Amino acid sequence: MYEQNTQSNYDDIFKRLVKAAYNGDVEQEINKIHQEGNETADKYALYASGGGDPNQVVFKVKDCAGDCVQKTGEDCEASCLFNAVVRDMEGNVVIKHNNCSGCGKCVEVCKNYSLVDKKEFVPIIKLLKDRKQPVFAIVAPAFIGQYAPEITPGKLRAAFKRLGFYGMVEVALFADILTLKEALEFDRLVTKEDHFMLTSMCCPIWFSMVKRVYKDLVPHISPSVSPMVACGRGIKFLHPGAKVVFVGPCIAKKAEAKEEDIKDAVDAVLTFKEVDQIFGVVGIDPAKMSEDPSEHSSTAGRIYARTGGVSKAISDTLNRLWPERKIKIRAIQADGPKDCKEVLKEALEGKIDANFLEGMGCPGGCVGGPRSVADVETGTKRVNEYGSEAESLTPVDNEHVMDLLKHLGIADIHEFLDSEKAAMFIRDFM
Ligand code: SF4
Ligand code: SF4
Repeated sequence: MYEQNTQSNYDDIFKRLVKAAYNGDVEQEINKIHQEGNETADKYALYASGGGDPNQVVFKVKDCAGDCVQKTGEDCEASCLFNAVVRDMEGNVVIKHNNCSGCGKCVEVCKNYSLVDKKEFVPIIKLLKDRKQPVFAIVAPAFIGQYAPEITPGKLRAAFKRLGFYGMVEVALFADILTLKEALEFDRLVTKEDHFMLTSMCCPIWFSMVKRVYKDLVPHISPSVSPMVACGRGIKFLHPGAKVVFVGPCIAKKAEAKEEDIKDAVDAVLTFKEVDQIFGVVGIDPAKMSEDPSEHSSTAGRIYARTGGVSKAISDTLNRLWPERKIKIRAIQADGPKDCKEVLKEALEGKIDANFLEGMGCPGGCVGGPRSVADVETGTKRVNEYGSEAESLTPVDNEHVMDLLKHLGIADIHEFLDSEKAAMFIRDFM
């Protein structure tokens, strides 16, 4: 068993452990895997149960022959934007963890399944079963359209509750909040024609590239947390003692949640694919759940999930707030890692004809994330439809957002620029 060490075997082990954890016998299942006598399976069990270095997301499970480039045309070394993958004298892959941002690009291309990302759900199951503290699932804006068309947000919420979660919150609601903040930041930072601002801090690959490679651009980053972090902090502010689990389309978010200055916000990260497997293994069919609706986000927050959405959301909001403002948003979007590199390089060289830079580490944006279930076209279509179904275009006209802000201690949107009142939404990149 597990001789081929394939991803499906890693996934199979994950599913076995999830089932065992719900039955309360995860340790026995790990022992059973160990008795099968396969060293790789042992390591899969370790990382599939959330073990390993707590600050690390990507792990090497076994040596590889190094012949994958010829076989598959994919190369983990070349995929790494941060020079963190090297080969030793025998051609085996070595990850230089000091350089690694945890973006997961190497895991995506590793067809030998020598590299895997940690799965964080098994330790959460105990909390879900104990019900001693509320555990919230917060779903990335790309969630819509990931699963079967009949699975509405209300049914998905009911399915998460059946798993033991206290509730499901759409991160889009906090993307709305960040949209307001980013519009104010643009108004503050871009006051001359040659000024520019880097946004889209929702993508960890984009901001890791700026922080690690294009450091001279850091002063142009707006000092905002990602919607994921804002949502986690917002929930913990309103529900002291709560735990928060983010559900999204990529490995990179697992790494973002562990960053020192923001690690208070989110306790675990699951991917859309993992959630699909979890529902399957515990026998929950979200399509058959009753409706449990609670959708209050605006078009602005909902379209963050696809490339260009962040620019449009903030531009619409800026125009709504200050229609007479002379300097409008002139946006450029970097779509995928290659594009991000080019746009950042050109920005550094002063060759960009734009005052607002948005970057997405995946082509198409989060709907194109490596752990999505739906393809990028379906995801984009559903995100746009869901965006147009919202009751308000921008958060300015969304009474739910304004009400939520008051509960979070922001009585007036200008207080986003007050470092004390808006502390939970501020990130210092300098
Ligand atoms: S996770 Fe990303 S940064 Fe780390 S080694 Fe892999 S590709 Fe490089
Ligand atoms: S663009 Fe890709 S890497 Fe960036 S947050 Fe979205 S899914 Fe993750």
